[in-house]
Amino acid sequence: MNIIFFGPPGAGKGTQAKIIEDKYGLKQLSTGDMLRAEVSQGTDLGNQAKAIMDRGELVSDEIVIGMIAARVDSKSCKKGVIFDGFPRTEAQAVALDAMLKERGKKIDLVLELQVDDNALVERIEKRAQEEGRSDDNVEALKNRLAQYRSYSAEVLPYYKAQGDVPPVDGMRPIDEVTMQIEAILDTDEEA
Ligand code: AMP
Repeated sequence: MNIIFFGPPGAGKGTQAKIIEDKYGLKQLSTGDMLRAEVSQGTDLGNQAKAIMDRGELVSDEIVIGMIAARVDSKSCKKGVIFDGFPRTEAQAVALDAMLKERGKKIDLVLELQVDDNALVERIEKRAQEEGRSDDNVEALKNRLAQYRSYSAEVLPYYKAQGDVPPVDGMRPIDEVTMQIEAILDTDEEA
């Protein structure tokens, strides 16, 4: 099963993906985590991406599509993938569909984690203290939320045209959000 966790920064996509991947034998692929790994290793790609990420803007489609393409064939992705933070543009969504189609696969489900902006700001401030991410600051967050508004208006209709995009109430405590996601996944698996 191939799933997309869609939602704004701080919605809990990564947290939920880590819980769900173990339970369902899926592999989380987070383009944000991959980019941060490149930055911390000081690779050319990381050096190129860092300033863009720090401003809260989007890294080029070519870079993120390439990173995903390099991983989808790995053994750990065999049972399926949870795409976290990808796709963020229609071009990325189209490339992902094509990549999966070539392999006889498809996106089975897109979930939209919904969280109020005020709660996102609080969560990101907390994460800034805990993890020290250089893009978890008020200025970059404003940009990331603005970017989210603009790319969600592009990506969500793309998937809604293909099928249902069930909403998940991301304002609930972590375990309740997990329960909502599991209920959707279990219904989808039976379908
Ligand atoms: P995230 O951890 O998903 O919030 O991503 C952190 C940052 O990495 C984003 O603000 C972007 O600069 C970059 N990034 C992550 N995923 C993508 C993507 N799919 N397309 C473009 N930029 C991305």
